[in-house]
Amino acid sequence: MIHESIRDMEFDDYLALIRDFTDNELIAREPEMVRAGAVPDDLVRRMAEAGLFGITLPTRHGGLGWSVEQQALLTMEFTRASVVYRSRFSTTIGLASQALLDHGTEQQRERYLSAMAAGECVAAFALTEPEAGSDASALSTTARRTTDGYVLDGHKRFITNAAWADVLLVFARTDPDDAALSAFFVDRTADGVTVRLPERMNGHAEGPVAEIELSGVRVGPETLLGGVEGRGLRQALRGINHARTHVAATAVGQATRILAEATGHATDREQFGRPVAEFGAVQAMLGRSYAELEAGRALVLDCAREFDAGFPPRERISAAKLYCTEMASEVADRAVQILGGDGIVGDNPVPRMWRDVRALRIYEGTSQIHERNLARALPTLLETRKSTS
Ligand SMILES: Cc1cc2nc3c(=O)[nH]c(=O)nc-3n(C[C@H](O)[C@H](O)[C@H](O)COP(=O)(O)OP(=O)(O)OC[C@H]3O[C@@H](n4cnc5c(N)ncnc54)[C@H](O)[C@@H]3O)c2cc1C
Repeated sequence: MIHESIRDMEFDDYLALIRDFTDNELIAREPEMVRAGAVPDDLVRRMAEAGLFGITLPTRHGGLGWSVEQQALLTMEFTRASVVYRSRFSTTIGLASQALLDHGTEQQRERYLSAMAAGECVAAFALTEPEAGSDASALSTTARRTTDGYVLDGHKRFITNAAWADVLLVFARTDPDDAALSAFFVDRTADGVTVRLPERMNGHAEGPVAEIELSGVRVGPETLLGGVEGRGLRQALRGINHARTHVAATAVGQATRILAEATGHATDREQFGRPVAEFGAVQAMLGRSYAELEAGRALVLDCAREFDAGFPPRERISAAKLYCTEMASEVADRAVQILGGDGIVGDNPVPRMWRDVRALRIYEGTSQIHERNLARALPTLLETRKSTS
């Protein structure tokens, strides 16, 4: 439940509150989270009280009503802490709730949105399958029509929050011969739903993704998103464009913290009688990282403002997601180098974050998919640029 005092806050005050929350609770409790191998339940409750599940939803649905630009600024703050914290609410506030907001029936919005904003309903977004990764249109999960709804059968993998979500937004085909997809709200504890966690994660270790087996899962007609079959891909894209903007902002947040940690280490660590920060080779890594970080920050905010002005700027979102996630990996890699052996041995947060940011280049469209999309759109993009300059 969002703390009542937050609802009356001006944005700058809320941003300051989230900055303090990030430093004093999220970052402060990282060692405990890493030791436990999971985000502590009471911290998830604190995130809900601080309004983090509600930042993307309008006030009429129980959210805080922030613009996309404000959401990006907030994301850059709270993702200075482990990216795993963000994962706990990302699928609820982005992928699932945004598709629901724009495409759900009134009854579906009533049922889920304010509970999502309060952190009382966690949603997972189940699109990816073993044979359908970058090519989501290849998915083979089926939703067979019956007299009283649908029966779902299929196998999903790499699904964030699936192990503890209340509801799964499952993409399936109502007609195996038709390319069109449909989306269904499925109770995670429904008969026929089995969720399995992986044995090992390389990065995001405290927030593992899960496999979902759907075997003869019966759902009613009211669970079909928007009440109309065949609109799943369009509905998914609404959430995906929003989530990609947030992932780009996340990469900026992560790089900000990583660079701060590397700068602190370079200033404190002395070799050859002086701080390693005074060596030109180290300065080159730090200076380049800062320039790239600031370029990423500007691109995300520019993109978010365009989002607010009308409809999602698809190609700019692709560019921001591609650039910022690659940038965060570069910044993290240089930071490990600056730490020397402390980047490999021991409890410094940088190597953990280096592993975490690697995944940002894979989910919400791999870097190669964004490169492909941008290359395809380039003739039009260049033409538009000419006519506006
Ligand atoms: C931590 C994590 C969380 C995730 N969370 C979710 C979630 O909540 N819900 C969900 O549905 N999915 C989720 N995913 C899945 C994610 O969206 C997919 O991993 C991603 O789309 C890539 O699919 P794939 O892993 O099958 O790789 P593949 O598609 O098999 O790609 C393998 C390689 O081939 C390249 N490639 C593929 N096609 C092309 C092409 N046309 N041109 C050039 N290169 C290409 C890729 O870039 C990649 O390098 C998550 C994944 C991870 C790692």
